[in-house]
Amino acid sequence: VGRIDVELTVLGASPALPNPGGASAGYLVQEGETSLLVDCGHGVVSVLRTVIDVRELSAIIISHMHPDHYFDLVPLAYAYFFGDLPPVPLYLPPGGSEILYAFEAAIGLDTGFLARIFKLRQYDPGAPLSVEALTVDFTPGKHFVPAYAMRFHNGTDRTLVYSSDTAYSPLVVELARGASVAVFESAVLEYRRPAEREGHLDARTAGEMAQQAGVGVLLVTHYPASDRDAVAREAGKAFGKPVVLAREGERITV
Ligand SMILES: [Zn+2]
Ligand SMILES: [Zn+2]
Repeated sequence: VGRIDVELTVLGASPALPNPGGASAGYLVQEGETSLLVDCGHGVVSVLRTVIDVRELSAIIISHMHPDHYFDLVPLAYAYFFGDLPPVPLYLPPGGSEILYAFEAAIGLDTGFLARIFKLRQYDPGAPLSVEALTVDFTPGKHFVPAYAMRFHNGTDRTLVYSSDTAYSPLVVELARGASVAVFESAVLEYRRPAEREGHLDARTAGEMAQQAGVGVLLVTHYPASDRDAVAREAGKAFGKPVVLAREGERITV
């Protein structure tokens, strides 16, 4: 039996303000027939539909309840509604269901609309989550609201780690230890918004964390396109080798 690779497709590499033509946080993690949508920020569903048919999704996992990580659940729900598709598992962080229900009410959707489209569940960040061929491990990051970094694997020694939104975190470094591919955010540049460092990584810190964790490939994501060159330079210097700047549509084998 040959090994089946885990594949990552970047659906949204933008921060809270989408880059021109881009989308906020969203990633497709696939292994064979298993397809996980990880985060679903503004614009992600548009890009997702250029990559796969929505009906092929095995599950959706949301790292934390910030708009740039879940607002496109509404357009995604319409894909299921208009397509008359069976409900798909949606894994939210603890407390996420109440936020989603309040959101649904606030924007004038029918009560229960999202619960009919999605099989709503809250994951236990202390336990691994298995979805078909993939296993997900969680660890809390350091962010303004509870946010969870994730490690994806399929039983081989190839692992993919996603930081979600976090400031420097030894726990996330530990989760990323020896990862084949790490996807780390760089929502701020140190010299520009120092106060925001408590909840986000700058490019240099993202590079340092990846270097400390000994990851193979570092993909830097969630960065403002206007900072592209500085992000690549700062992260690469700290990581000790060139980094990959995530872009919408980019696909990489773990
Ligand atoms: Zn956030
Ligand atoms: Zn974010």
